Amino acid sequence: MSIRTRFAPSPTGNVHIGNIRAAIYNWLFSRHEGGEFLLRIEDTDLERSTPAAVRTVLESLAWLGLDYDGEPLYQSTQREKHLEVAEQLLAKGAAYKEDKGGTGRGECVIFKMPGRDISFRDAVKGELSKKADDLKDFVIVRSDGSPVFHLGNVVDDITMGITHVIRGDDHVENTFKHLAMYEAIGAPPPVFAHLPMIVNAQGKPYSKRDGAAYVGEFREKGFLPEALFNSLALLGWSPGEDREVMTREEMVAAFTLDRVRSAPSQLDMTKLLWMNGEHLKRRGLDEIAAGCRAAMERKGQWRDDIAPAYFAAVVACMGERVKLFGDLGDQAGFFFDEDFPYDEKSVRKRLLKEGALDILREEQAVLEALEPFTTESTDAALHALAETTGRGMGELVHPLRVAVSGTGVGPGLFDMLAVMGKERVMRRIRRTLDAYGG
Ligand code: GLU
Repeated sequence: MSIRTRFAPSPTGNVHIGNIRAAIYNWLFSRHEGGEFLLRIEDTDLERSTPAAVRTVLESLAWLGLDYDGEPLYQSTQREKHLEVAEQLLAKGAAYKEDKGGTGRGECVIFKMPGRDISFRDAVKGELSKKADDLKDFVIVRSDGSPVFHLGNVVDDITMGITHVIRGDDHVENTFKHLAMYEAIGAPPPVFAHLPMIVNAQGKPYSKRDGAAYVGEFREKGFLPEALFNSLALLGWSPGEDREVMTREEMVAAFTLDRVRSAPSQLDMTKLLWMNGEHLKRRGLDEIAAGCRAAMERKGQWRDDIAPAYFAAVVACMGERVKLFGDLGDQAGFFFDEDFPYDEKSVRKRLLKEGALDILREEQAVLEALEPFTTESTDAALHALAETTGRGMGELVHPLRVAVSGTGVGPGLFDMLAVMGKERVMRRIRRTLDAYGG
């Protein structure tokens, strides 16, 4: 039998990472098995399922490279079929009508639970069961004639020939109901796999407050789709052998349901940034530069006078410090701005310290005479100055760094000097001495 999975989001305007993780697992599993991955839009809540909300789902899938087979099935188009099945269940005596609560608003259709315990083997959680007493009858068609989630969900999965339902933990309780419906309808149930909850560092359900919770937010922050994909795939699944940084193809090759854990999985922003940095490295400098530039343009940090070669050199110089495209503009803006601001604390600590400005003047003289002006030559020149003046390198490095960048943090000083070039460095030292040198 060929494998068929589906992603069945209810469009709300945002795609939570817990939901997209389910999509990723369904996709990986189908692709690994050579099966099909289908899309069903559960759009019966017409107030929330606006065209824009549906577009958000489609964009998130496309961005992450989660291609689906065939056309999406819109649940709202299946209403007649849902109601037909409700009629069949009524006819079989597996459902009954009732004016719930005697409100006089009309009758609902209620599914009758079989009155015995229900158990099933979850592909992730193992054997699960529930006592008959805890399984209550439930509404499948509201008094206004609209089908309820449980009915649409099960009927559509049958229509679509779904063989494996991989979804969040929060649906475990529903699955007992759904299994009873499969039996009453007379359709073989799919395999169910319920994924562990995503929690924050405190073990609480992961939410917006923990950083970013929606796919769109990660995208806006500058995460690479392959890094988010990789990170989310590892939230509950591991390929073994401590493998972590992987391509989509490697994950497809390695993905099996028996390596999905049932314990809650922790999403950690630090780890995510690390993962992004790893995938960024695989992209090559040109692509990184293009991404950084686009992020700077979006944030209004780009200036048209930035020379492409200088920009590329800065990107290379920042190296692994750039974990997100947005980091370059945020952390290295001073490279491009001759009026860069001075960080007050660094100025106090590094420049206005006893003797620091005298040291800066000595460095000015040494660098002025230096030719060529490279990483190695600036390094050697400052070491020589340290030697002749009997000072530690730290005393020399810190004031100079603040003088040329306005801040105490950044890439290696000598790399930075070489990238900036002599003219720019000398101009910046002069500016600093004019401002603070008295
Ligand atoms: N629309 C449901 C949800 O997003 C579908 C659950 C399922 O995958 O069956 O939670």
